[in-house]
Amino acid sequence: MTERIYSTQQYARETDATIVDVDPDDGRVLLDRTVLYPGGGGQPHDVGELTIGEDRLAVVRVDDDARGVWHWLEGGLPKVGTDVRAIVDWDRRYRLMRTHTAMHALCGVVWERYRSPVTGGNMEPGVGRLDFELPDWDPEDKASLEEELNAQLDAARPVEVSFLPREEADQDPSLIRTKVSLLPASLREVRVIDIVGLDRQADGGTHVASTTEVGRVRVAKVESKGKGFRRIRLAIDDEA
Ligand SMILES: [Zn+2]
Repeated sequence: MTERIYSTQQYARETDATIVDVDPDDGRVLLDRTVLYPGGGGQPHDVGELTIGEDRLAVVRVDDDARGVWHWLEGGLPKVGTDVRAIVDWDRRYRLMRTHTAMHALCGVVWERYRSPVTGGNMEPGVGRLDFELPDWDPEDKASLEEELNAQLDAARPVEVSFLPREEADQDPSLIRTKVSLLPASLREVRVIDIVGLDRQADGGTHVASTTEVGRVRVAKVESKGKGFRRIRLAIDDEA
């Protein structure tokens, strides 16, 4: 199994690692540890590179399975046992961390105001969308929702990572915020992201350490998805 450094050290940009398996048919390698996020929970996988001495191999895709985290490489594949340095494309990743935390903050604000659950979501660096069952939405609410969200982010709330035993997590249904997804039965430990005082949910993704790092957020668009469902699109300040 791959040691997933990104899970506990979200700001780690690189690590030494060893290639423990090579899959030539798919052009991918399995590492014993990595800082690259394999994707999940609406957050896209990282990209980056593996360096071997002076050689640089682009990592164009990352995904995981029961054996660990696989890295798809451009060009030739190194051999099993090769020592590498795994490096994440940090600018892109950091923007995803800011975007992901902004989306959890939106979950918190919408929950406080409307008691509305999330039904889905997705993000790219700098922009994201969340779907809510939101029958009480009034189009007049858009400006005040944006204002409230930015006030919550400005409050410099710490964003904490913790791990709960499965049995404990099962006793707190509020942790599972996405209405449609349940935790896999095999999961023994549940990772929890807590924007202290605003939003707490089971999540595998990467987040900033304080809400101030998100910066200013814009509620770009609120679309009706029929029968009381709404899609809210967010953009962080430096996005068009
Ligand atoms: Zn999340």
